Amino acid sequence: MPQDPRTLYPTVDPEKQTQPEPGLDVELSPQADVGLDSYKGSGRLQGRKALITGGDSGIGAAVAIAYAREGADVAIAYLPEEQPDADRVIQAIEDAGQKAFAFPGDLKDAEYCRTLVEKTVEALGGLDILVNNASRQVWAEGLTNIDDDEFDKTMQVNLYGTFRVTKAAIPHLQPGSAIIFTSSVQAYQPSETLLDYAMTKAAMNNLSKGLATSLIGQGIRVNAVAPGPFWTPLQPSHGQPQEKIEGFGQHAPIGRAGHPVELAGAYVFLASDEASYVVGETLGVTGGSPTP
Ligand code: NAD
Ligand code: MG
Repeated sequence: MPQDPRTLYPTVDPEKQTQPEPGLDVELSPQADVGLDSYKGSGRLQGRKALITGGDSGIGAAVAIAYAREGADVAIAYLPEEQPDADRVIQAIEDAGQKAFAFPGDLKDAEYCRTLVEKTVEALGGLDILVNNASRQVWAEGLTNIDDDEFDKTMQVNLYGTFRVTKAAIPHLQPGSAIIFTSSVQAYQPSETLLDYAMTKAAMNNLSKGLATSLIGQGIRVNAVAPGPFWTPLQPSHGQPQEKIEGFGQHAPIGRAGHPVELAGAYVFLASDEASYVVGETLGVTGGSPTP
């Protein structure tokens, strides 16, 4: 039976709420669907070995759970204060019968980025899927209100961290491997309150295309996903002004925010052999907001 996408997942209608950065899924109200009770796998990533940054919560958690249910062993990276969310994801990966590894640390730390990949390769016995998903998003009222220090932190996590983890991972990737970046609809339609964040998302989109051309000669596919508004802890932990938390995502043409599980299929597809001819693509999952 076909299902109406407008009502397939519950409409998120949050009240104003704030969490300290980076925010926790377990504290979100209402709870977001990361696939714990909804994602069903079908063996599409059997025997694969994946590292997912920001795999504790939100979109990364949904990807981690889906990858495990598709047959992959999964390592997740996250900040130490996100342990309650990470515990939930590790449990779900193990419940799927797969190996799970947790490597907390701060992507602003260059040494951590390098050792994260080393520890992952050692634990999983290799690496063939890298999902660059971690990002920092802190809103400010226009460019003149972005502190230099805040700007620097956002660049450190979103650009330097992503660059360093990817650089450390590439030497380990064999033909058939996949790298997936998490860009955003913000890459095309930047909000006035997210100018620094939005430019990092455009940069990731650009890097994914350049890197795709550069690595396909080694049989490594690089792609990106550009989500629209998804209900995750990024939003209430200073990711949006409070007036945008109320009714979050309801401006999307579909009429509601996405739940992280609704992105899982895109990340599974791009990592799997079904996407063998998909290289340098950005897959928009926006609830109808047009992307180029
Ligand atoms: P999220 O808060 O669940 O995930 C972001 C993760 O980034 C955190 O869990 C954290 O582990 C990680 N992170 C942040 N700072 C870090 C640091 N200093 N060191 C290590 N890790 C750090 O929120 P999410 O919405 O699931 O975000 C996942 C990705 O999706 C991000 O790249 C975000 O830009 C992107 N995105 C989200 C939306 C949305 O509407 N939620 C839309 C477009 C793109
Ligand atoms: Mg988190």
